[in-house]
Amino acid sequence: MTDLSTIPVTRLSGVGPKLAEKLKRLQISSVQDVLFHLPLRYQDRTREIRIADLLPGTEAVCSGRVVSTEVLFRGRRSLLCTIADGSGEMRLRFFHFNKQQQQKLREGVTVRCFGEARRGPRCIEMVHPEVQFIVPGSPLPVTDSLTPIYPVTEGLHQLSMRKMTSAALVYLKTAAPSELLPLDHPQAISLSAALLTAHRPPPDVSVEALLEGTHPAVQRLALEELVAHRLSMQRVRFRASEQKSPVILKSDSDLCQRLISSLPFSLTNAQTRVIDELAADLSTPQPMLRLVQGDVGSGKTMVAAAAAALAVGSGYQVAVMAPTEILAEQHLLSFSRCFEPLGVKVGWLKGKLGARAKRDSLESIRSGTTNIAVGTHALFQRDVEFSRLGLTIVDEQHRFGVDQRLSLREKGLHSDLVPHQLTMTATPIPRTLSMTAYADLDCSIIDELPPGRQQITTVAIPTSRRREVIERVGQAITDGRQVYWVCTLIEESEVLQASAAEDTLQELSEQLDTIKIGLVHGRMSGAEKEQAMTSFKSKESQLLVATTVIEVGVDVPNASLIIIENAERLGLSQLHQLRGRVGRGDVESTCVLMFEGGLSQRSRDRIAIMRQTNDGFAIAERDLELRGAGELLGTRQTGSMNFRIADLLRDKKLLDIAKDLADRIQSDLPESIDPLIARWMGEDAPEYGNV
Ligand code: ADP
Ligand code: MG
Repeated sequence: MTDLSTIPVTRLSGVGPKLAEKLKRLQISSVQDVLFHLPLRYQDRTREIRIADLLPGTEAVCSGRVVSTEVLFRGRRSLLCTIADGSGEMRLRFFHFNKQQQQKLREGVTVRCFGEARRGPRCIEMVHPEVQFIVPGSPLPVTDSLTPIYPVTEGLHQLSMRKMTSAALVYLKTAAPSELLPLDHPQAISLSAALLTAHRPPPDVSVEALLEGTHPAVQRLALEELVAHRLSMQRVRFRASEQKSPVILKSDSDLCQRLISSLPFSLTNAQTRVIDELAADLSTPQPMLRLVQGDVGSGKTMVAAAAAALAVGSGYQVAVMAPTEILAEQHLLSFSRCFEPLGVKVGWLKGKLGARAKRDSLESIRSGTTNIAVGTHALFQRDVEFSRLGLTIVDEQHRFGVDQRLSLREKGLHSDLVPHQLTMTATPIPRTLSMTAYADLDCSIIDELPPGRQQITTVAIPTSRRREVIERVGQAITDGRQVYWVCTLIEESEVLQASAAEDTLQELSEQLDTIKIGLVHGRMSGAEKEQAMTSFKSKESQLLVATTVIEVGVDVPNASLIIIENAERLGLSQLHQLRGRVGRGDVESTCVLMFEGGLSQRSRDRIAIMRQTNDGFAIAERDLELRGAGELLGTRQTGSMNFRIADLLRDKKLLDIAKDLADRIQSDLPESIDPLIARWMGEDAPEYGNV
């Protein structure tokens, strides 16, 4: 039988080299990859609703006649098209468009659009809706089943994804993907049938079962994914056990002790315990693979510094890496502050460094003059060579993109030793799940905050009271404080996020005209971001408008107020991270969650949790419980986990079955291991030595 993983995606009709290039970003290169690129969720487009009944924040189908179309040049060039259906008016807003699209949307034509409604400056809007042109007199094309929504990347549309999956599904009839699970497993449905249902739910399928993920097709696929996941973790452990790392003994150096004594505070019990756990790992030739979880502000940096001191004290180098320049720079500051007085040399490497600075930096890493190298993923580029790398520390590793895949293994290689590996995260995941999520890592938890932390008061305010919120911002600044204003829009689109931030900046500048306002978003260059951050840190600007790029790590103790727009759209853990930007100094702090009117009960519950507790672990637990309550297929993220179809909470019952199956495959069908991992995880599969 034909192996679908060997048929290139370009074989599908409509997929040319250009599209293939974009698909690569989703790790789709074969027909099999297309089939395993499962819908993120489903949309119900079987009903059309009146414009007057649109609720901001919800997705819907509407139709209407084009009343006017204009191109705006203020700020970013955009195409604005107003449509009316008798009940009301709505605007369609496009940031990317061509002449042809502009002409097609001329006055008088009737369109049907699908998109997410949001509050606009004048009336309700849809940003980049899907548009169909309706010829008067001909019947509307009806949708009678759920519409799959695929994970996409910039420049790739749902329509192309749907066309492509349709073409790939044709192959299923002649070349089903091989069944790799033991054949007597309790899931009765075949892999092909399950894939077909997931991609193109037939009209008679139970909508509920599909949305809730209880449908046998979903369960069949989820089980296989969980098995693949488990096998991949076992593979990492196994490969690590074949390697050797340097033995780093606490007794060989007193650097760690000197570091701890030099601190202006004493460590918390939790910090001390975790440092001991790290020291124990480092003292054996087995490579350490440990994750330190700790809430925002729990003092992870000091724990990492202590581990670094152990390694440096034994004559090894340490690499400390963060996913963004802002964060990396913060680490540089903390590490330099702790270590330079002790005679330890801290070096710095980032992507955009002057040629001269870069050469010097590389040279001192190579020669071993630099003891601790701090940087972004630039640290793991090919041209970086360490002299004796003994430990790598990676902060917020899940925030590194796949294209920044970091290979640590070949870095430190000296006398065949690989570096120990420590990862840190402030996104806690409930203990019940970390067993599965991080089965390839040992976990340490810093479950205590340093004494004397300020409580953060959290309030929820509807956008209709925006004016009041802006006044409050002005007041805080008059009182000498600093403020964050976080714009969130559509998580997947940095372009739209950036443009929302720019709009907000404009609005706030008009209303708070004596205040200096900075801006940070993901479309700015590293230097521009740095500039904005530096001027906020030095109080040159008092208000910082930002997208969620400021989520982790940013430390400005004088900031005491944070406004988070569209709070209903963010996960609780993400909100918690953002909120952790304030309450870092000795002033009382407030977090304002702004939300669109018409909150669902679920959003109300979520906001209530944010107000009740400041404990990241408790929040993560509650987040999971809530997600369990009939959430759409969509939410599959659990901390840093990204499953295509499995959901750790929903599929809890499958975890034990998956474990048994994985064990059986390990002993009886070892030839299935690699192909199973490959088709479910592709390049995302954890490899020992990659983070
Ligand atoms: P996070 O876990 O969020 O990375 P940090 O390591 O940045 O937290 O620590 C937050 C702040 O708390 C820093 O300013 C740090 O110096 C301080 N800190 C860390 N440990 C302690 C401690 N034991 N007592 C008091 N302050 C501490
Ligand atoms: Mg930190």
